[in-house]
Order: sequence, then structure tokens, then C-alpha cells
Amino acid sequence: MTAVHVPGAPAIEDGLLVSTSPATGAEAGRFPVATPADVTAAVERAGTAGQWWASLGFTGRRERLLRWRALLARRIEELAELMHLEGGKPVADGIVEIVTAVEHIDWAARNARRTLGPRRVRSRLILAEFSGHLEYQPYGVVGVIGPWNYPVLTPVGSTAYALAAGNAVVLKPSEYTPAVGQWLVDTFAEVAPEQPVLTAVHGLGDVGAALCRSGVGKLAFTGSSATARKVMAACAESLTPVLIEAGGKDAMIVDSDADLDAAAEACVWGALTNAGQTCIGIERVYAVEPVFDTFVAKVVDRASRLTVGDDGADLGPITMPAQIDVIRRHIDDALARGGRAVLGGTDAVQPPYVRPTVLVDVPEDSAAVREETFGPTLTINRVRDVDEAVDRANAIPYGLGGSVFGRRRAMAAARRLRSGMASVNSTLTFAGMSTLPFGGVGDSGFGRIHGADGLREFGRAKAITRRRARSLLPSMTFDRTPADVNRLVKVVKTMYGR
Ligand code: NAD
Repeated sequence: MTAVHVPGAPAIEDGLLVSTSPATGAEAGRFPVATPADVTAAVERAGTAGQWWASLGFTGRRERLLRWRALLARRIEELAELMHLEGGKPVADGIVEIVTAVEHIDWAARNARRTLGPRRVRSRLILAEFSGHLEYQPYGVVGVIGPWNYPVLTPVGSTAYALAAGNAVVLKPSEYTPAVGQWLVDTFAEVAPEQPVLTAVHGLGDVGAALCRSGVGKLAFTGSSATARKVMAACAESLTPVLIEAGGKDAMIVDSDADLDAAAEACVWGALTNAGQTCIGIERVYAVEPVFDTFVAKVVDRASRLTVGDDGADLGPITMPAQIDVIRRHIDDALARGGRAVLGGTDAVQPPYVRPTVLVDVPEDSAAVREETFGPTLTINRVRDVDEAVDRANAIPYGLGGSVFGRRRAMAAARRLRSGMASVNSTLTFAGMSTLPFGGVGDSGFGRIHGADGLREFGRAKAITRRRARSLLPSMTFDRTPADVNRLVKVVKTMYGR
């Protein structure tokens, strides 16, 4: 890369990754770019650190993680300002993101022992002479590759759970937000100065690829579906297990018995927060015919009052300059194919900003409906009923989250959405509930972060049987007699043969 800086685009100068604001071009920091050998060395060091970290046990790790949580809570304004400087995110959005991350660290720290610690499992009549024991043991080192759009919550969503489970973590932050990633690493070092339990390797995609090949015990990836495929291919070489949190194109359904004011407010938030650069952002709405016009009017009214700009505005800049072209293409394509802009439109694209854009009657096979736009745009299409809405929502390869507004049919529709998460009468809220798992289906990935499933994602199930008595029905031994086998046949017929 050259030294000519496009504001917000990562540049490499003299072996340093230079991070700048997409709004102003101001520098947010510079960080040494890791070579493949650096990545391997970092993972090796983390291997030793991980042994120390695991030896602290659940109690010791909980204490450190809660101190880290407290540190984030105390320095919340400082971190939100850095997120604003580096990614353009409004400070208030940064605060909300950090609050959610703090909650996840707290929950992971407090619930790791209960979820992962050694426990007895019930034995059954067959093998009743053995007790069963289960525990989840750490992988050693977990590699975490992160995106830029939620530079605190996405790495923490994996990292806090991996750490609570007893792993060391090597984090590869997005090249668009290395300063925020390094801030997380530096603050964790304040609560665990003894060993490099959480470290960062910086650089472009090739550094992420090197992390996949570095010998980590597991790789947790959050980013686009296209990169997820490359990550899986690289990890396949060494059978390194992967967790994939990829892109989305979440739908919202508005039924005839919905509270339309609440639906419009939540829709505008779900679609436009973080300037629409949200994996679980609402990008498509299906509203039933009787409420369609009223709902659209309410959305337009609310969205048209949002402010766009650098400081103190509701919507900040588009963090990744290249994404502007994608957003413009989706709007232009929707309009060229018969869609209508009831707010914004082509003129709304004013780099590095995009003003809120609401498109209606957009063909279902257009890019604006099928591809991830990742901008403050929204399509709203009319449907006959909830069944048609669910069918259309489920008709694309992505399946991350979703939302349903309504009363009588809402829970059933939420269950039928082909997605990992859904919220009824709200948007995006499942991400903040630390007791619930988070993850997608289809092109949105697999595996889960958050909640008990998120903890188990970072531990290998270890099963142990322990003899507690002599076998009354010896079978798994060459000492068994024909009479033992006959008794076994009788038992199986009595127990299972009817
Ligand atoms: P991206 O896929 O371009 O990059 C993600 C990370 O992967 C970056 O750190 C990048 O350097 C790294 N990378 C690039 N090439 C690589 C390779 N060949 N091998 C290994 N690593 C490589 O995604 P992005 O633009 O940073 O993030 C936006 C995307 O992330 C969107 O699609 C969004 O929906 C998705 N996302 C998903 C979730 C989720 O939880 N499902 C959360 C946030 C963002």
C-alpha cells in the first residue's frame, strides 16, 4: 500500500498499519504489521500464557475478567471517543456497544464454572456400574479475527467467552479498527500483567490467513461470508475447528395487529443505527397490505428527522470507503428496476456520508433485497399476510437475525424465520441478552457466541466414565461368558424390544 491516505482506509507505511478517521482523516494510531513468523511466535507465546491462565481456574479467571469489565466500565467515555475517532461511530452508539460488551464479560466470567466445570452426568441401566463425568476443557489458544463495524462488541463476544473458558486469545482486529483492538489488549494486560494472555497481531487479510495457519486450537471469525469461506479453507488444511459469524440481510415483518408507532421507531433504529453498518441490521421489511402505507409514512417521518455528520449526529460516516460504491449500486439498481425512493435515493450518497434512504416496491430479486448493503438504506415491500412475509424473509441464503412486530402471530412467525435469532416487538435486542446464544444459519455462519452455548463453543467436551462397582452384566470384556451374552439379549428385549 502507498503512503497516500484515503481517509478511513488502512495504509501501510514503513511496516506500520496506519489507522485514520473516515470522517476527518485524523490519525487514530499506527501499529507494526505482523509477519507470518510474528503470528506464529505470538501464538507460541500465547500457548505458554494459556497454560498459566488455565491454571488460575474458574475463580482466578473470573476475578481477572471482572476487573477487566470494571476497567471498561470506568473508562467507557475514553473508549467510545476512540471508536468515534477511528471508525466514525457516534459516541453514543459507542457507549451502547461498550455497555453490551461489559455485560457479556460479566456474564461469561460469572457463568463459566457452572457451564463448563466438571459435573456428574446420570448413567443409565446399561453401564449402571459406571459414573459419568463431563467437563469442557480449553483449546489452549483461540485465534479471533474481527470486523470493524462493532470493534468492541464483536471481538469481546468471542474473546470474553474464550478467556472465561480458560483459553489464551490472539486477536487480529480489523485493519480499519486496530487502535480499538489494541486498546482492548492493553487494558486486559493491566488486569493480567503476568503473561500475554490476550495479544493482538495487526495487518491486512494476509495476517488473518496466517493466524488460521498458526496452530491455534480454534479460530473464531467474524466478518463477511466471502472471507469466511477463505478462513474455512485455510483452517481445513490443519483441521482447525472454526466458528463463523458472517454477514446478514435481516428482515423485519410487520403484521396487521402491530403497534405501528413502536414498529416504525424500532425499524428506524434497527436499520439505521451505526449508519446501517450492522450485521444484524434490518435491511428488508415486509409489511402486510392493510398497514403498509401507514407504516411507511411513520418510518419516513422518523428517519427524515435523523441527523448525519461527524460530531454529535445520529448517523456517522461510512467507515469503509469502498462500501459507498456498494450502497450506491444497490440504490441505483433498485430504482432502475421499478423501486421508489420515498426518502433519500441516489442523491443521499455524499461520501463519506449516506443519508437515510427508504425504498419501496423493490423487486425481490434485486441486489437491495438479496445482498448485504451495509448502509443506512432499507427496503419496505408489501405482502398479503405473515405467511408470505416469512416465505420472502427466508428466500435468501443469509439467516442471521430478524424481527417480527405484531401480537397473535408474532412468536410463531419468529420461530419460522430461518435465522439464528429473532426479536418480537423490538429490533437487535437479542445481541445484548448475554444469556442467549448469538449466531446464524446458512451464509450467516455457524456456531454460537454469547450465553452458555457461547461458552461451550470455546471448550472441548471431555467425557470420563469411572467404574463404581463390579459389572452385573459383563459385556465389554473377553471374560464374558455365553450366559452373560444370553442375559444381555434378554435384558435388551425386555427394555427396548417393545
Ligand atoms: P471482512 O470479511 O472483510 O474482514 C473481517 C476480518 O477478516 C478482518 O480482520 C480482515 O482483515 C480479515 N481477513 C480478510 N481476509 C482474510 C483471509 N483471507 N483470511 C483470514 N482473515 C481475513 O469483513 P468486514 O468488512 O471487516 O466486516 C463486515 C462484515 O462482517 C459484514 O459482512 C458483517 O455482516 C459481518 N459481521 C458479522 C457479525 C456476526 O456476528 N455475524 C458481526 C459483525 C460483522
